[in-house]
Amino acid sequence: MFLQKTIRKRTEVKGIGLHSGKTCTLTFAPAPPNTGVHFVRTDLPGKPSLKVYAAQVSATGYATTLGGPVFSVATVEHCMSALSALRIDNLFIELDGPEIPICDGSAEAFLKSLHLVGMIEQDQPRKYCYITQPIYFEEGDKQAYVVPYHGLRVSVTIDFPHPAIGRQKLDLDINDQSFTREVSRARTFGFLKDVEALKARGLALGGSLENAIVLDDDKVVNPDGLRFPDEFVRHKTLDALGDLVTLGMPLMGHVVLFKAGHDIMNKLIRKILDSKDCFKHIELGADISEEALVRSRLGE
Ligand SMILES: [Zn+2]
Repeated sequence: MFLQKTIRKRTEVKGIGLHSGKTCTLTFAPAPPNTGVHFVRTDLPGKPSLKVYAAQVSATGYATTLGGPVFSVATVEHCMSALSALRIDNLFIELDGPEIPICDGSAEAFLKSLHLVGMIEQDQPRKYCYITQPIYFEEGDKQAYVVPYHGLRVSVTIDFPHPAIGRQKLDLDINDQSFTREVSRARTFGFLKDVEALKARGLALGGSLENAIVLDDDKVVNPDGLRFPDEFVRHKTLDALGDLVTLGMPLMGHVVLFKAGHDIMNKLIRKILDSKDCFKHIELGADISEEALVRSRLGE
């Protein structure tokens, strides 16, 4: 049987906030079974917390923002992407301010911090969102859908009219090993003209070539170039895995995205939650052969 997981002990990631440019600290802390993933603002009176689920998503422009009545946290997807891949069910993510450290613009620092302390199984079975029928969402030329699959698989296609990006595709069975190797180091990216406009408005003050791939009109500006020739689609896969945490339970299914960003991903997740006839809540364990298949796909 698959049991719920949390981490063994507290672990920290320090860095600067993308918008403020100020130092901030994120701490991952163990949480009891059936807690889910919560953000906690330790700098505010009463340490208010916010459970991660799709209805909490309040903005999806450049990044995913979770907003509650008391506070909001921005750019949550990079620190959450590792949770989908490592299948961490219960976790407190403590923040000493409104921003999450941007680090190098990828998920590597968060993943390393989680690997450093390791995970433990808890005494409650994990409940999956097991897709039984396709669920489809479309808006203009953007598409997002999920189909039945014994495991977690993500296929992402991006198409940017920019000479350094163009059309890129990635299709991956997601587990700790594949995420670590193929996805976790892929950095966020932005266009020089947008960065300048943001800085003029007092935003992205912490943004630099240290934490993003920056493109001018025809090429990548970073002197060291790219970490993968198709780093852009790898980062979009990272973002999608982060957004998947807002489903509130681990997905068993194949997610297919075409030109879909945070906004479309949020709409797909809301549609999944509304499509009660198309998924079941299951605990693995009754069917040994199925469990073995899933275990190998998830790398557990
Ligand atoms: Zn991102």
